[in-house]
Amino acid sequence: MTIDIDFFLNTVADNIRDKKVPVVDLIAVQTKDPFKVLVATILSARTKDEVTAKASARLFKKASDPDSLALLSIEELEKLIYPVGFYKTKAKHLSKLTECLKQLGGVVPEAIDELLKLPGVGRKTANLVVSVAFAKPAICVDTHVHRIMNIWKFVTTDTPLKTEMALRKNLAEKHWITVNSILVAFGQSLCRPVSPHCDICPLLTKCPQKNVKPRKKPGSKMSTSNGLSFISWNVNGIRAVEKKGFIDMLLDFDADVIGLQETKAQPDQLSEPLKNIPGYTSYWHSAERKGYSGVAFYTRLKPLKVHYGLGEPEFDCEGRVITIEFDSFYLLNIYFPNAGNKLKRLDYKLRFNDTLLAYAKDLEKQKAVILCGDFNVAHKEIDLKNPKNNVKNAGFTPEERSWMDSFIEAGFVDTFRIFNQQPEQYSWWSYRFNARAKNIGWRIDYFCINGEAKDQVLDASILKDTVGSDHCPVKLNYLP
Ligand code: SF4
Repeated sequence: MTIDIDFFLNTVADNIRDKKVPVVDLIAVQTKDPFKVLVATILSARTKDEVTAKASARLFKKASDPDSLALLSIEELEKLIYPVGFYKTKAKHLSKLTECLKQLGGVVPEAIDELLKLPGVGRKTANLVVSVAFAKPAICVDTHVHRIMNIWKFVTTDTPLKTEMALRKNLAEKHWITVNSILVAFGQSLCRPVSPHCDICPLLTKCPQKNVKPRKKPGSKMSTSNGLSFISWNVNGIRAVEKKGFIDMLLDFDADVIGLQETKAQPDQLSEPLKNIPGYTSYWHSAERKGYSGVAFYTRLKPLKVHYGLGEPEFDCEGRVITIEFDSFYLLNIYFPNAGNKLKRLDYKLRFNDTLLAYAKDLEKQKAVILCGDFNVAHKEIDLKNPKNNVKNAGFTPEERSWMDSFIEAGFVDTFRIFNQQPEQYSWWSYRFNARAKNIGWRIDYFCINGEAKDQVLDASILKDTVGSDHCPVKLNYLP
């Protein structure tokens, strides 16, 4: 099916008319200043618009041009722009930016190639600055543009760069400047990365919906006949991810049970909205040490029982395991220890792993056992980008991988590999070196199941487009 792209983009533009204008476009309209657009665009990467808007306003009060920006130290910059994502790196880039602009006569360049030479400016930023600040034809390809253009089958590409090149060839120039802002707004509101709202989308009858799993229509009765959906996500701090829109994300998952790891919060540190997400009951197992480890479940199915920990104080004080029991299965949510710097905690981790395995084998005698969580190990070479360089590093040592072998030999199945044998399927990326954008990652988050119940697994996947943590969520569909 070939879509009528004019119709699609015009329909989307109408649909998002009442949505918020992206912050960078707003700054361009309000200031007509390429310097401010450039700085705001740098700040906006991996940051919510509201946070970018506030940080930009604070920064522009002190530094409204390259000269005044040059007077600020890196520490001052960090303070002014906090809490934008990667604020330390961005502060360094801003500090260097003034030097580079000085060499260009204090003027922001209009050409993409010139912009790409500036610190902190990648292709997306450069295209955005050219299109928004200078109103020149350039196509900024945000992850939403890349995703939606593929859903529509207008392009068939596997990276944003290839999407940009394909759009340069096939998209009429009249759409170049606007396509990013309207598809970002559309991708944030209706055509969301997880469970898009197809039931109310004006494009539903014409959309190819490639690889799309729409949300269940609100109000439709939950039924287990199509299986239950479970999500597991290491959020790397529930309070941090709450600021990035966690509650909306959780509702968008539209899952029956969501297991979280590394919540890093005691129950009394949770906000009221986090404790009362409509339709869900939550259970928390926190570490005694504040701001460390911790696991939690949100469930809309009522469990028969909830069990906290493994019954071993040396592990349970770190809040690493919760089990919820249903009629026909147990669901375990686990945050495996990290072997640590110089493998200082490797022994502790291996003891934890063995205790966990014995516990799961014991439960298996009664009913099916599903284990989800951050296993903190990439099992095989295919499960990380650079296996050779990491054999001595936590998460890929022979000892940890050999335990994973014994876990599989004990009858548990890595559900993701039932469906997907492809390389470069990762669930964790370092915050450093732009690793996520380059897909230099590891697959260390799993849904595993005891072998006898394996045929009840309908699907297992990685939700790589969900951001907010250095891990992305993984998903399981299961027929009880
Ligand atoms: S029908 Fe669904 S997948 Fe297609 S554009 Fe609309 S929300 Fe996106």
